[in-house]
Amino acid sequence: MMKQMVKCPHCGKRLEIKDASDLAGKRIKCPVCGTVNSYESFLKAFTADAGSDETRLIDDQRTIIPGLGNIRLPRLVFVKTGQEYPLKEGRQLVGRKPKESASEADVQVDTHGENFMSRSHFYIEVKKASNGSYRAYISNAANKNETVIGNEVLRGTDVLALSDGDVIRICSTEIRIRF
Ligand SMILES: [Zn+2]
Repeated sequence: MMKQMVKCPHCGKRLEIKDASDLAGKRIKCPVCGTVNSYESFLKAFTADAGSDETRLIDDQRTIIPGLGNIRLPRLVFVKTGQEYPLKEGRQLVGRKPKESASEADVQVDTHGENFMSRSHFYIEVKKASNGSYRAYISNAANKNETVIGNEVLRGTDVLALSDGDVIRICSTEIRIRF
């Protein structure tokens, strides 16, 4: 993961972001003083004067928040290669991309030879909440191997809500959802 040093434009605290791969347009909440400002303004403050005091490690999940008016649809990421698969609003079938035969899946994941994922493995339903942000829900399709979200097995007709960064695991195949 790519790290990035930034600095709070209000209190001047140096902060280190663990995963700085996707910060454009997002906002940061300073864990020291609570100031909320754009990632760009945190970066600019650091570039202007890096300072020399101790650095605080940011809790990415809690302190990096979506930008205003820049809420993106979720996407799936095949962890092994980083290949991204954008999702759309509504229900979509996700499965492994077969080598030769056709697949009816809306999202076909190239698993690079791993065959644990079925061609019709799970559904993801993307819904827009009243505040404009997107939510995603996962349920089983015609999968042979079980689907595991974090430590929880997706059973039968269960529908689970996914959060940013959740890993969907099928044996050793890992797919992450990002919002
Ligand atoms: Zn601050």
